[in-house]
Amino acid sequence: MSIDREFDRQHIWHPYTSLSKPLPVYPVVSAHGCELMLEDGRALVDGTSSWWAAIHGYNHPELNQALLAQSKKMSHVMFGGITHQPAVDLAKLLLQMVPQGLTKVFFADSGSISVEVAIKMALQCWLGLGQPEKSRLLTIQKGYHGDTFAAMSVCDPVDGMHSMFKHQIIPQLFAPAPQSQFDGDFLAEDEQALTALFEKHHQHLAAFILEPILQGAGGMRFYHPDYLKLARKLCDQYQVLLIADEIATGFGRTGKLFACQHADISPDIICLGKALTGGYLTLAATLCNDKVADGIAKGAVPALMHGPTYMANPLACAVAVKSLQLVRQNQWPAQVAAIELQLKNELEPCRSSPYVADVRVLGAIGVVEMKQNVDVAAMQKAFVELGVWIRPFGKLLYIMPPYVIGRAQLSKLTSALCLACLDTPTTRVQALPGA
Ligand SMILES: *Cc1c(COP(=O)(O)O)cnc(C)c1O
Repeated sequence: MSIDREFDRQHIWHPYTSLSKPLPVYPVVSAHGCELMLEDGRALVDGTSSWWAAIHGYNHPELNQALLAQSKKMSHVMFGGITHQPAVDLAKLLLQMVPQGLTKVFFADSGSISVEVAIKMALQCWLGLGQPEKSRLLTIQKGYHGDTFAAMSVCDPVDGMHSMFKHQIIPQLFAPAPQSQFDGDFLAEDEQALTALFEKHHQHLAAFILEPILQGAGGMRFYHPDYLKLARKLCDQYQVLLIADEIATGFGRTGKLFACQHADISPDIICLGKALTGGYLTLAATLCNDKVADGIAKGAVPALMHGPTYMANPLACAVAVKSLQLVRQNQWPAQVAAIELQLKNELEPCRSSPYVADVRVLGAIGVVEMKQNVDVAAMQKAFVELGVWIRPFGKLLYIMPPYVIGRAQLSKLTSALCLACLDTPTTRVQALPGA
């Protein structure tokens, strides 16, 4: 029996999709390594890692085994008043891996929730320290931190959902998006703009939240490590907590284990998610340092006021432990470096297209920014016909494949991308010979 696409169209919402005018969806029946299998038998090379998550590829024997073994012990048990081995093992591993100084782990059930928890930690910390006036957040334009309400308040105010929910979203402070390129000079204008905001508003600032080095869903922008160094310095100088949202960048994607390490800084709070379980289950974590934990403990309510039903789900923790063990086998630095080199070489021709505004690569992330928004449905169809899975948004065509992708598979992705942007920015992509 085939997947009932008509039922899906009528009754099921997909991400950021209209029910009345839905974009087409493709039925996938299985996934192995770096390929998604369509119901009609076609295999697509995956350029998305299912939104940064599946770094080891799909249907990984060791991850499967971890999940199966845990399911025979218990799939879930409440975390209130109970603990278990997968949670303890995962917390130990995380603490060994993250930038130094982070000591306490909160397990959340999605990236957005881990951002909510990070914000709550920062607010509760200043309450505990007797400075309730420090209650606002500073962030950067073009950022993305999730879809829940506090997370939305620190997403880009123009491209985010601020205008739609303008009466419900807490107003926060926005620094201009950094203009200093990752490998260019660090510009005085970036330094001045950020410094001025701290000087003016620090008395009311609880935290500065940012995506280190890579602003992801807000525009796939890479910025200069000195901006992070400056952020750390200003946060120390003005007593503001630094929250690093590494949900997309964590676990090697930018070429460092964590993007903060491009600038050798440690945040006070870090959010992790996406690749944490290698793309198997929804799990995120918010880690903080002793300063934050001690501040919260001094409060009239000394407990961190959060506790989701599926907190530290044992299945998710067990598969995350295995995923992190795979990361610690340390094959990713060479894999990511090889992907970076290949992306740089093979995406370079896109630059000559009259439709392309910019081509940029960092770690295992390749971005082609078009001059105009692309027709997602037409472009997606063309990609599927070329045997690849790439999901454009706005002006952006981008790939962040599983780290285990082979050379030939990656070339299939890059040649499809080149073909798409050398043709028109909307449609008319012909099949590659032999693809
Ligand atoms: C994806 C993402 C989130 C939200 O995570 P969800 O698991 O989708 O809720 C938050 N911040 C960043 C930087 C992300 O890339």
